[in-house]
This record gives sequence, C-alpha cells and structure tokens, in this order.
Amino acid sequence: MAALPGRINRLEQALRQICDEVDRLKLEVRQLEDENARLRQEVAGMYLEEGAEGLHHKPGAKNLWSLYDKGFHVCNLYFGKGREGECIFCYALINRGEQKDGA
Ligand SMILES: [Zn+2]
Repeated sequence: MAALPGRINRLEQALRQICDEVDRLKLEVRQLEDENARLRQEVAGMYLEEGAEGLHHKPGAKNLWSLYDKGFHVCNLYFGKGREGECIFCYALINRGEQKDGA
C-alpha cells in the first residue's frame, strides 16, 4: 500500500500531460480551421473572378457547375465546403445563373 501515493502522483502527471496535449491539439485545430476558411474564400474569389472575366455575358454558371462537380458547395450557405450528396441550395443558385445566361 506504500506505493499508492507514488502511483497517484504518476497518474496525475500523466493526466496533466494529456491535458497539455489536448490543449495543443485544440490550438492546432483552430489554426487549421482558420486556414481552411481563408483558402475557401480564396477559391471562391478565383471562381467568381473567372466567371466574370472569362465569359463575357455569362455570369459563371459554367464555373459554378464545374466547382459543384468537383464536390464543393457553391451556395451561400456552405460555399467552398466539401459536398456529400446533392444540395438543393446549390441547384437553385446555379439554375438562377443559367437563366440569366440564357436571357
Ligand atoms: Zn450547397
């Protein structure tokens, strides 16, 4: 039984190390999320510019489709996020763009 305080100490130390590691990971996750958001914005900007300059009278429905086909949202709600399955918001937005293209 004499060893018990020592074991508790060791466990306490191990626990503290785990907590430190969790803190580090949380920080890393936050940094990655920030970077991810920044990159999403950048990609969004690229596609919107391309749409405006590349296709004179077409406001980029083609570009939106290609981005959508690559597996990303193009809707306002989730722009640039990875897409799982179809998204009605994306469809609505691209259709609006295509109708404008046709007119
Ligand atoms: Zn969407």
